[in-house]
Amino acid sequence: MNRRSFLVKSSVAVSAGLLSRSLLRAQTPSAAPAASAGPAPYTTTFTPLRRNVGLFTGRGGTIGWLSNNGALAAVDTQFPDAAQRFLDEFPGRGGRSFDLLINSHHHGDHVGGNPVFRPVTKSIVAHANVPDLMKAAGARANPPQTNFVLPDITFADAWRAELGDEVVSAKYYGAAHTKGDIVITFERANVVHMGDLLFNRVYPVMDRPGGATTKGWISVMEKTVADHDADTIYIAGHSKANDPQFTVRCTRADLLVFRDYLSAMLAHVEKEIQAGKTKEEIVVLQNLSGFSDFHVERGSRLPGNLGNTYDELTAPKA
Ligand SMILES: [Zn+2]
Repeated sequence: MNRRSFLVKSSVAVSAGLLSRSLLRAQTPSAAPAASAGPAPYTTTFTPLRRNVGLFTGRGGTIGWLSNNGALAAVDTQFPDAAQRFLDEFPGRGGRSFDLLINSHHHGDHVGGNPVFRPVTKSIVAHANVPDLMKAAGARANPPQTNFVLPDITFADAWRAELGDEVVSAKYYGAAHTKGDIVITFERANVVHMGDLLFNRVYPVMDRPGGATTKGWISVMEKTVADHDADTIYIAGHSKANDPQFTVRCTRADLLVFRDYLSAMLAHVEKEIQAGKTKEEIVVLQNLSGFSDFHVERGSRLPGNLGNTYDELTAPKA
């Protein structure tokens, strides 16, 4: 037994059970957490979407995957524990390594599992701003974090590769959720991984220290829609919790709802500023009128969205 299989032996029984089941809906309860440490139990799900491309939900931002005769690839890695479960439970993976891992952006719930992937992954691709964003976020953390694995291939505008009989491309349309988010397209499957550029019916995280911009985000959504078609399946980084109606599997209509939320939120802040309201007065709003699907009882991120947008609109022009 090698070191890795020793480390993961607690989930071997779970994996073996999974492999014998249908690829269509592979759901397992989490192994019991170790005493006092580790996350609460969570369910993992592998969902095929189209032409050997699918999504995985566990703990953290949605992972996208490609598994065909010539290649194995993933988009994002969630957290270390979820990354390990993804690798262990991947239906039909056997001992195959990943030809490619793409990081949609630098946030910990999307790249936290990179160290787990690294030994079984040939290349890690991300936008050119991601390495510095990862280092800066690590330095800001308390305590400071240095335990991350950086991409080894970066690009500024566009990147493309063949993976077996699939072609994957990635594009940077500008700053949005951060200044390092890319849109990843599995071209033949017509499946697009949006990372955190898309939150489905949930107020998004806006990382202003990481370069977030509301105006930029709206523009990125519009460019994304223009570059794809009505049949494109979009994978969102996150969706409304515990709502089977709105999941991370999305359509163009879902993208446009999110674009409309950003536009309405921006217009609301502009109107409030014109009315002479202070930032403190603007950020008390818990839910935005017209977007009832986004509403939450508590823990709303809308005040943060409003505050970031206020800061963006009132920042001195560079
Ligand atoms: Zn994020």
